[in-house]
Amino acid sequence: MTERDYYEILEVSKSASGEEIKKSFRQLAMQYHPDRNPNDKEAEAKFKEINEAYEVLKDDQKRAAYDRYGHQAFANGGGGNPFGGFDFNFSGGGFADIFSSVFEEFMGGGRARSARGAYEQRGEDVRYDVSITLAEAFAGVEKEISVDSTAVCEKCHGHGTNDGGKAPVCPHCNGSGKVRMQQGFFVMEQPCPQCHGSGYLVKDKCEACKGRGFVEHQKTLKVKIPAGIYDGARIRVVGGGLAGVRGGAAGDLYVFVSVETHQIYERMEHNLYAQIPVSICCAALGGSVKIPSLDGSKIELKVPAGSQSEDIIRIKGQGMSILRSTSRGDLFVKLKVETPVNLTARQKELLEEFRKESGEDCQPQEKSFLDKIKALFSD
Ligand SMILES: [Zn+2]
Ligand SMILES: [Zn+2]
Repeated sequence: MTERDYYEILEVSKSASGEEIKKSFRQLAMQYHPDRNPNDKEAEAKFKEINEAYEVLKDDQKRAAYDRYGHQAFANGGGGNPFGGFDFNFSGGGFADIFSSVFEEFMGGGRARSARGAYEQRGEDVRYDVSITLAEAFAGVEKEISVDSTAVCEKCHGHGTNDGGKAPVCPHCNGSGKVRMQQGFFVMEQPCPQCHGSGYLVKDKCEACKGRGFVEHQKTLKVKIPAGIYDGARIRVVGGGLAGVRGGAAGDLYVFVSVETHQIYERMEHNLYAQIPVSICCAALGGSVKIPSLDGSKIELKVPAGSQSEDIIRIKGQGMSILRSTSRGDLFVKLKVETPVNLTARQKELLEEFRKESGEDCQPQEKSFLDKIKALFSD
């Protein structure tokens, strides 16, 4: 069973109609159908995922259960709700691990290497690390990156030969790239020392690339990082890696995305969490606090009269953007009631006055605590 969100898999929003879901399913199923992608493990896994998601979302009852309980609605044995708790430390959550697999699934093990002895050699894959802010992860961002890479030598078109023709087969190993050595009783096989295992040996080398078939090249690429990207996600840029040799395809570039921590918000899956200090007056009388949203706007948080420290206010739809979706998670604000300090004489006077005026009814928790103590002593 997949851990990915079924709506994301089918590339539809949470509010999509049955028709929309069906349409998207058909398109995706066609795209990843095994008949169209023979021997492609990635496509096969994707196809299975698409079907699994559609099995649930096409059925109104199953879809409603999924909307309420997520994957657990269909997991054997169930288990606790991983998102039920509210923990600012997020310790041991392992969320980065879970969600880094989002992109690994698309990545697979990379395309198959060129077979040994094949004339064309595929270029190496390259890794590039990029760090973005939470706001950039929220909105999505295009990053221009510059990597030390290689390009096919223009003079010899990657063959490495002086005349630009095909590289001749290595006479030393007859193109196998391997040589056998007798050592006592043993026959050892090692890479051919003449052609270094490639099976091709250029005597009359291209001057521009010294027979390598590629030249150093600073590659500048624009990489689109989608809104809702997770910390630890990888984006594959097909063909963004090192140049292939002797007509081989270029390798891929893997952009590893890390999302910086935010001053106010902590992120857990699609939701955002913040802890906001409020004055005792605001908590007691009610009021509003303005907090900056990741989209640049201001959120007016209504604090109800009688709020307590640690109370959590949920604001729907003000959370993180969701990958490949138009919807957003929720924002959870935890109130921290701040006891006033550095009081002036007048402020103290007012609070003293309030103390005289306030009775048990104002502090029901304190009252019940004192009642418990009384009960303990009367036993
Ligand atoms: Zn050789
Ligand atoms: Zn060359």
